[in-house]
Amino acid sequence: MTSGPHPLLPTPAPDAASLTPGPSDALLIIDVQNDFLPGGALAVPEGDAILPVIQELVRLPFGLIVTSQDWHPAQHISFKSSAHPKGWPPHCVAETQGAALAPNLALPTSTVAVFKGTRADQDSYSAFGGADTQGTPLATLLQRHGITRVFVCGLALDYCVKASALDACTAGFQTVVLTDACRGIAPDLTPTLTALHNAGVALGSSAPLTRGL
Ligand SMILES: [Zn+2]
Repeated sequence: MTSGPHPLLPTPAPDAASLTPGPSDALLIIDVQNDFLPGGALAVPEGDAILPVIQELVRLPFGLIVTSQDWHPAQHISFKSSAHPKGWPPHCVAETQGAALAPNLALPTSTVAVFKGTRADQDSYSAFGGADTQGTPLATLLQRHGITRVFVCGLALDYCVKASALDACTAGFQTVVLTDACRGIAPDLTPTLTALHNAGVALGSSAPLTRGL
């Protein structure tokens, strides 16, 4: 294998009809929380640019819409400390404003919230490591609703979106990452997109889905 820049990804252009969401499709909105938005404790560059895109996506007839949230104790294993100097800045502490979903995102009342990283000694980039307020894991929620395909969007593409999409694939769901409804932390997201593609995750744009809304 040679190293160096990747060629353009061989992303197939999915035809719009096959991507039309229906009752067996879920939209997973990953970590669109104040701390990951500009001005937040762990802001993702241009994170707010995805808000209008997601606002359109939630109008589509998904069988289920799920939000995930980092929901950490004040002392969390992922936070930077003297013992863990490479940790993340403290972020998304449960019940704080930083952990709240973007306030200007209007979501249907049927949206199900999933919380992750809720224990001090465990972290989960993936929404599949989270559960709803009843303690039901995300995969079980999706199965109960008859979901076979998931569309993933949110923050950050190279961490929690990536981990969630890979887990969705592993759990047997057809998985589509809507890249225009994501932003990442790394300046070059090519390795992330390559890893997703190689794992069988489809990469697409929300534009063909929301056109005509
Ligand atoms: Zn976190």
